Amino acid sequence: MIDLRSDTVTRPTRAMRQAMMDAPVGDDVFGEDPTVNKLEEYVAALLGKEAAIYCPSGTMTNQIGVYVGTGRGDEVLLHEDAHIFRYEAGAPALLSGVQVRPLPGEGGIIAPETLRAAVRPENVHFPRPKLLCLENTHNVAGGKIFPLEKFAAVAAEARGLGINVHLDGARLFNAAMATGLPAWEWCEHADTVSVCSSKGLGAPVGSLLAGDEETIREARRARKAFGGGMRQAGVIAAASLHAFEHHIERLAEDHERARKLAAGLEKSGYTVEPPETNIVLVEVGEAESFLRDLAEHGVLATPWGKSTVRMCTHLDICDEEIEAAIEAASRVAAVFTQL
Ligand SMILES: *Cc1c(COP(=O)(O)O)cnc(C)c1O
Repeated sequence: MIDLRSDTVTRPTRAMRQAMMDAPVGDDVFGEDPTVNKLEEYVAALLGKEAAIYCPSGTMTNQIGVYVGTGRGDEVLLHEDAHIFRYEAGAPALLSGVQVRPLPGEGGIIAPETLRAAVRPENVHFPRPKLLCLENTHNVAGGKIFPLEKFAAVAAEARGLGINVHLDGARLFNAAMATGLPAWEWCEHADTVSVCSSKGLGAPVGSLLAGDEETIREARRARKAFGGGMRQAGVIAAASLHAFEHHIERLAEDHERARKLAAGLEKSGYTVEPPETNIVLVEVGEAESFLRDLAEHGVLATPWGKSTVRMCTHLDICDEEIEAAIEAASRVAAVFTQL
C-alpha cells in the first residue's frame, strides 16, 4: 500500500532506531535524562527560545501552550480551521477552562483587522481575550505557509492589545524549508511555539513546546498535571533528536514530490490546489467512492470534505511511489469518465 493519508504514518529509520538503542537515559521527571535534556536544548536553540520541554504529542504541547498563556474564563482567539479548535477533543475547555473564539481568514491566515474587530473592550460582560493561536503550516488549508510579514503583523497587533501569541508549528519546519527562512524568524513573534517530530520529520512520537525560561518552568508543572511526565524518555527523545538533526533539510524532497504528485493528478483531469509544502488537496467528485476505488489500486488518502481528499508526502514515500499513485488515480479517473 502507498500510504498518503498523513505524514504521521512514517516508521523510524534504521539510523533512528540505532540512536534510540544507544541513547543514555535517566529519570526525566527528576530532570536527569541526558538525551531529553539535549533534545530540549537543541530545539530551544533551533527556535531561538530560552527553553523547551519534551512532550508525547503536539496536542499536549498546544494545550500546555493554551494553559500557560491563559487563565480560567479567558478567551482564546484562533482560526476557525485551527487544529487546536477542530482536532484536540475540546481540550481548551476541558483542561484550561477557556472559551475559544474562532475567526475567519483565507488559507488559515488571520488578518490584523480581523483580530482587532474580534477583541472586545474591558467590561464585566466580556471574557478577557488573552491568547492568539496561529498555525504554520496550516493543515486544513492544505499545508499553506503563513507568510512571515503577515504573521509578524497579526502578532504585533495581538501584543499591542495585550494578547499572548502561541504558534502551532507542528509543521513549522516545512514552512522554513519551503521559504528558505529559518524557523526562529516566526518564533520571534510568538511567546510559545509547539513543534512536532512525529510529522514530516519522521520520529515515532514527540513534540516540544518552546518559550522563555519562566514559561517553560510553568509548562513543566502543567505537563505533570496533564499526565505527560515521562521517566526514561531518552529512548524516544533520541528518535526526535535524530529527526531534528537529520530530517529537516530533506523536507524539501517531500515538497518536490508533492508538486510532482499535484502536476500528475492535474494531467489526469483532477483539480488540484498547487501545494506549497507536503500536503496536496485534490477535488475528486465524491471523496468516499474515490478513496474506495483508489485503495483498490493500492493507494490510501484521507477524506477532506465531501469532494476533497488530502494526500501527504513524507519520509516513507519515494519517487516511484509518487508515479504509482498518479497512475492509480488516473485509472480511477478513467473509470469515472467511462460511466
Ligand atoms: C498533527 C498536528 C498537531 C498535533 O497532533 P498530535 O497528533 O497530537 O501530535 C497539532 N497541530 C497541527 C496543525 C497538526 O497537524
